[in-house]
Amino acid sequence: MSKHWVYAFRAGQADGDATMKELLGGKGANLAEMSSLNLPVPPGFTITTEACVHYYKNNSELPEGLVAEVERALAELESTTAKGFGNVDNPLLVSVRSGARASMPGMMDTVLNLGLNDATVDGLAKLTGDERFALDCYRRFITMYSNVVLGVSHHSFEDILDDHKDRLGVSVDTDITAKDWRRVVSDYKDMVKSELGHDFPQDPKDQLWGAVKAVFGSWMNDRAKFYRKMHDIPEDWGTAVNVQSMVFGNMGETSATGVAFTRNPSTGEGVLYGEFLLNAQGEDVVAGIRTPQALTRRAREEMGEKSPSMEESLPDVFAQFKSTVDILERHYRDVQDVEFTVEQGKLFMLQTRNAKRTSKAALKIAVDMAKEGLITSQEALMRVDPGSLDQLLHPMLDPKAEKVIIAKGLPASPGAASGKIVFTADDAVRLSAAGEDVILVRDETSPEDIHGMHAAKAIVTARGGMTSHAAVVARGMGRPCVSGAGEMQIYSDRGEFVARGQTFRHGEVITLDGSTGEIIKGAVRMIEPDFSEDFHQIMAWADEFKRLEVRTNAETPADARTALGFGAKGIGLCRTEHMFFDDERIAAVREMILADDEAGRRKALAKIQPMQQNDFAELFRIMDGLPVTVRLLDPPLHEFLPHTEEDVRIVAEASGVGAEKLYKRTKELSETNPMLGWRGCRLGITFPEIYESQLRAIFHAAVEVQKAGGTPVPEIMHPLVATSQEMVNLTDMTHRIAAEVFTETGTKVAYKTGTMIELPRAALLADKLAQSAEFFSFGTNDLTQTTYGISRDDSGRFLNPYIEKGIFDKDPFVSLDQEGVGALISIASQKGKTTRPDIKMGICGEHGGDPASIAFCHAIGLAYVSCSPYRVPVARLAAAQAAIGSAK
Ligand code: ADP
Ligand code: MG
Ligand code: MG
Repeated sequence: MSKHWVYAFRAGQADGDATMKELLGGKGANLAEMSSLNLPVPPGFTITTEACVHYYKNNSELPEGLVAEVERALAELESTTAKGFGNVDNPLLVSVRSGARASMPGMMDTVLNLGLNDATVDGLAKLTGDERFALDCYRRFITMYSNVVLGVSHHSFEDILDDHKDRLGVSVDTDITAKDWRRVVSDYKDMVKSELGHDFPQDPKDQLWGAVKAVFGSWMNDRAKFYRKMHDIPEDWGTAVNVQSMVFGNMGETSATGVAFTRNPSTGEGVLYGEFLLNAQGEDVVAGIRTPQALTRRAREEMGEKSPSMEESLPDVFAQFKSTVDILERHYRDVQDVEFTVEQGKLFMLQTRNAKRTSKAALKIAVDMAKEGLITSQEALMRVDPGSLDQLLHPMLDPKAEKVIIAKGLPASPGAASGKIVFTADDAVRLSAAGEDVILVRDETSPEDIHGMHAAKAIVTARGGMTSHAAVVARGMGRPCVSGAGEMQIYSDRGEFVARGQTFRHGEVITLDGSTGEIIKGAVRMIEPDFSEDFHQIMAWADEFKRLEVRTNAETPADARTALGFGAKGIGLCRTEHMFFDDERIAAVREMILADDEAGRRKALAKIQPMQQNDFAELFRIMDGLPVTVRLLDPPLHEFLPHTEEDVRIVAEASGVGAEKLYKRTKELSETNPMLGWRGCRLGITFPEIYESQLRAIFHAAVEVQKAGGTPVPEIMHPLVATSQEMVNLTDMTHRIAAEVFTETGTKVAYKTGTMIELPRAALLADKLAQSAEFFSFGTNDLTQTTYGISRDDSGRFLNPYIEKGIFDKDPFVSLDQEGVGALISIASQKGKTTRPDIKMGICGEHGGDPASIAFCHAIGLAYVSCSPYRVPVARLAAAQAAIGSAK
């Protein structure tokens, strides 16, 4: 079949379907699908994304054959609708709508009511018997077309309209009569002519091609580009163009337009949720010009609203609408976000797509749908973004904290945040770049504000509903948002807003709670969230499917308990040096470092050992029956010495060691390249008394806990091993001390000895290390540093430019470099197994909580990943997704 540029759709029949998003864009593919389902969709046709791609590749030239195909589709549309494009007595009007593969809400352009001109507007008036309506359409069309296609600012139109409203003494558009709309339209046309030097285009075909090209062009506007960058959408996809016959929500009090979600996109609650406006056209709802009304009676009552819901004011259409969206949700097996219009009591569906949702809603919806039998538990697991769980585990406002509420709006996107007030997107970007938390406060937001919304911690708007631009974008970005806080008067030019009689200025701190809609003075105390049953359910399903075990990196009892609560199966990395920094202990540690000889060091270590023993015993008790992997001392000793003059003075005074001596020792220990210096097991081998003391503390703790009836599972981990001789030396030491402690106490505890693999040499010779090491833990932070020869602490200056230039895909310290560092891990894991087939392997770097890195660990058959406590649920889910994904 030869290539087509145009695909038609009409109720009961369509050339395309929902699987054709790449070619028809999401909007076009779903319009086709809904038409095939025989739902009430106004007929039309879709120009493919390929036509747009061609247009960009060929100097803004339309592909050959497109014009003819559009002419044919238009003729067909005329016959389906029994109207004529440009026909003065019975004009066909269309919308020209953008729609890319991935949804980019509001980022590109759409023109409504196209086909109107000075003649057809009168035809429409006669045909409908409603002159006011016809003129309302025409003024909307002139505004939109002039703005989108001809580049005339919409402010110019608003100014004219405001002048007329002042003159007439009316405040809402719906109060303007036909006669007055005629004057507005005439002023509009004069203004366009004086701005552009030519008349507003009257030929519908010219209008059509102008709009098609403008929609193609909107793919490359700044906000679309920014949105794509933020969401990793490729530039070369292009947008489709949907040309669709118009239906009119502005034909009086039995007409309406609205948007709805089949479930609440903010909380996930399984009830229809949406907003509508009587006697209006689609763009009015999103623009926040009038405040929309609730769709259902329940929602209206909950909000304490007076104006009737659609369920109450248009009960028959509402019932039809409800059953239509139920069909859609069952058909797509996911929550749908729909646009609809009612024309004189008749329902039309204009758009459907899988709804964007908050992380909280995503979780609830996935679990509910699996319980309802609509999807399987595997599908439910695949529908929750592991990274987003992190958001749910984050703090919210302490309900007990004092709150001075300064205004209330709609709970548009959940979560809480405090920050400084800013009134413009540019200020938001500037202050947040300077490290400030900011809250963007606006009358309403538009796609031009997107960079500022991204930079802000949260967003407040005085106008607009739950589906306003601000609300939708904030939910997508995971930013808390309060919209429609009508009691705030915002004077952005003066840099202040007034609410309940108080004035708040740029830079003052406020807090907002996107779950309640409250805006609060100052900063408010936050607390840890409490977990829903859905969270536990998804975690339980994750455990059913995942193969990787998830451990945690923790050294304090508090962290260990948190991680256990999140389902960690042991500690994969306990960094013992963190136990040294405690105020009480650091003095003894410094005494050890400053000692002149081994005897002096042993004396100081004897003070630290019982404290460490208590620490380990506590961790063994918390992780009863689960492995606790203890890494022996790793950092270079000078990290424990004071560095500033002031600190040296304080330490010298406290320790009784002269400042002179302190300086001298610090100087002796200082290294040109500490990362590659006297650290890790090199310390333990040259000053064995340090590791011996740590080992004694570990084994005594294990004996103590086991004697009390517990089950300690110690795993001794030696850091920065490069050679098998080091490993032999360290293993011997470990066994010797264990034997001593076990003889001394008359109790034996099972334990393992292993190493971190964090040097390329260790990875390459892992078979030799495995002769004495019983487990490997890949220390991917250091392994990344040593593989690339890049210091994590110093990489800031070139890492971003590298990512911008596309030399690095991602920050290799955040997401594992699977090709390079990953190759070393693979080699080490294969070689390790040749010596010791049952060797246990895992990773314990930052990467242990990164979903892509976890998928890699699953794929190469590691046994576990270890990550920070809050990432444990993320890792459990990512591990399940890796298992489900690779089983497909
Ligand atoms: P966006 O992607 O910004 O939502 P749309 O193409 O969906 O842009 O259109 C903007 C608004 O116009 C929506 O509310 C939509 O429902 C409405 N609309 C689009 N086409 C028509 C039409 N043929 N008849 C009536 N309203 C329409
Ligand atoms: Mg839309
Ligand atoms: Mg290391």
